[in-house]
Amino acid sequence: MKLPRLYSIQAKLSAVFLFIVILITCSGMLSVYFSKRHLKTARFFTDTIIPEIQRINDLQHAASQVEDYSEELSRAVVRNRLDQVYGDLEKALARTTELTQTITREDNGIDIVSLNFLNQAIRAQAQLVFQLRARLLKMASDQQGVSKEIQRHLLELAALEAHRGIDSDSPGFLSRPMPLLDALSLPTTSPLNIRQLKGDFAEFHRKNAGIISKIRNLKTQSHARAVLDHITEHMGHLIELKEGDLDINQRIGGFITTLDDLTGQLKQLTQKYIEGVRTRFRKNAEQVLTREQQSINFTNAGLIFAILILYLLHWKIIIRGFGNRLSMISRAMSQGAFAEGKPVPLPVQGRDEIADMARSAGELLKKARKLDTLAAIDELTGVYNRRRFFQLAKAEAKRTARKKAPAVVLMIDIDFFKKINDTWGHDFGDRVLRRFAAACSQKSRSMDIFARWGGEEFILLMPDTGPDQGMAAAQRLRETVAALEISTDTGGTVSLTVSIGMAEAALDAEGIDEPIKRADTALYQAKRRGRNRVEVSMVQEPPQG
Ligand code: GH3
Ligand code: MG
Ligand code: MG
Repeated sequence: MKLPRLYSIQAKLSAVFLFIVILITCSGMLSVYFSKRHLKTARFFTDTIIPEIQRINDLQHAASQVEDYSEELSRAVVRNRLDQVYGDLEKALARTTELTQTITREDNGIDIVSLNFLNQAIRAQAQLVFQLRARLLKMASDQQGVSKEIQRHLLELAALEAHRGIDSDSPGFLSRPMPLLDALSLPTTSPLNIRQLKGDFAEFHRKNAGIISKIRNLKTQSHARAVLDHITEHMGHLIELKEGDLDINQRIGGFITTLDDLTGQLKQLTQKYIEGVRTRFRKNAEQVLTREQQSINFTNAGLIFAILILYLLHWKIIIRGFGNRLSMISRAMSQGAFAEGKPVPLPVQGRDEIADMARSAGELLKKARKLDTLAAIDELTGVYNRRRFFQLAKAEAKRTARKKAPAVVLMIDIDFFKKINDTWGHDFGDRVLRRFAAACSQKSRSMDIFARWGGEEFILLMPDTGPDQGMAAAQRLRETVAALEISTDTGGTVSLTVSIGMAEAALDAEGIDEPIKRADTALYQAKRRGRNRVEVSMVQEPPQG
C-alpha cells in the first residue's frame, strides 16, 4: 500500500530547513533595515550637528578675514582725512550697536551668521581705534619734536641775552621763559591747558617783542626777531598738534566705551549660542542613543522569538515526532506491545515513515501475539499448557520476591480416567477433560494460574495464599468436580472425582520446581490413600548446621 507523503519526515525536515533559510533571510533583511536606520541616524547627526561645528569653524575663519580687513582700514586712516574716518567709524559703531540689540532680542535662535558679522564689525572697529591710537602716539612724538625746536630757539635767545653786557641799555632781554617751558613739558589733558599755553605764549611774545624792538644793536635785534618768529611759528604748529591730539583723545575715549560695551554683549551672546549648541548636541545625541537602544532591543526580541520557534519545532518534530514515536515502537517491539500489562499505543497517526513503521510493527505484533497464544494454550481444554505455566509461575516468583507472600501449588489428577476412556470412548474422555477444565477455571480466582500438566493431570498455582486457605480451596475444587454430571450420548450421566496433592510454596526462596515435586508426592499419597481426597506435603526445612 502506497501512502501519500504529505506529512513525511522529509517534508518536515524540508520545512525546518526552509524556516531556517527564511530566518536567515529575515535576519539579513533586518540587518539591512537597521543599517539603513543607522545611516539615517548618521545623516540626521550630520545634518544637525556637523553644520553647527562647521559654523564655529566659519567664525574662526571670519576672524582671520577681519584682520585683513583691519589692515585695509588702517591704510585708509593714514590716507584719508581724520574727520571722514571719525564719521565712518561713528556710523559703523551705531550700526553694530543696532545689530547687537536685534540679535539680543532674537532670544532663542541666536543666528551664527549675525554673531559672525557682529564679531567682524567689532574687531574691525577696534582695529580702527587702535590705528587712531597709533596716530595719537605719532602726534605726541611730533609734539615733542616741535617742543624741542622751541626749546632750542629759547636757548638761542638766552645766548643772545648773554651779550646784554655789550649793549646794556635795554632792561631784561628774555622775559618769562620758565612758565612757557613748564607749559610745554605738560601733557595735554584739557582745552584749559591749551588756552593756558596760548595765554602764556601771547604774554611771552608781547613782552619779548617789546624788548627786542628796544635792542640798539641792529644786527642782534634782527637775529633775535628772527628767532622769536621761529618760536611763534613752531608754537602755532604745536598748538595745532595739541588741539588735534585732544580731539582724537576725546573721540577715542567715546569709541572705546562703545566698543567695550559691544564686546561685553558679544561675549554674552556667544556664550548663549554655545550653550544652545551644546543643548542641541546633547538632545540629538540622546535621540541617537535611544534609537540605537531600540534597534538592539528589537533585534534581541526577534532572536529570542526565533530561538523559541526553533526550540518548539525541535521539540515537535525531533523529540515528539521522531524520538518519542521511535522509542514507543521499539518498546512495543521488545515487550510484545505490552509494558507492565498495559498496551503500548503505537503512533500510527499521521502519514509519514514512522507511522508506516508503526503500522507494520502493529501487524507483526498482532501475528506474534497470536502465535504466542497458540503456543501457550492447550488445544483441547483451552487452558494454559505446561510451558506457559512455567513462564507465568516464574513471573509470579519474581513478583512474590518483592512482596514475600506465601503461595500454594495444587496437583490435580482425575481418578480412574482410563476407565472412562475405556467405557465411553476416547471422544467422550476428551469432552470430560474439557468440562473438567472449564469447571476448574471458573472456580479459580483471576490471579490463580491453572494449566494442563499433561494427560488428565492439571496444576493450579494460587499466589498470596496460605496453607489453610489453600486447603479450603482444594477441598472446594474437589467437591465441585465430584458434583459434575456429564451426560453421555446414550442419555445417562457420568460423574468423576479427583485426587489433589497440595504443597506450600516459598516461590522467592526455592522457585517453582521444588513445590511441584512436593505436590506430586502429596498427590501420590492421595492416590494411595484412596483417591477423591486432598493430601498436603509439608515443607522440608533445610537441615540445620
Ligand atoms: P488413577 O486413578 O491411578 O489416576 O487411574 P487412571 O486410569 O486415571 O490413570 P492412568 O495414568 O493409568 O491412565 C490415564 C489415562 O488417561 C491413560 C490415557 O489413555 C488417558 N488419556 C491421556 N490423555 C488423554 C486425552 O487427551 N484424551 C483422552 N480421552 N484420554 C487421555
Ligand atoms: Mg488419573
Ligand atoms: Mg494420571
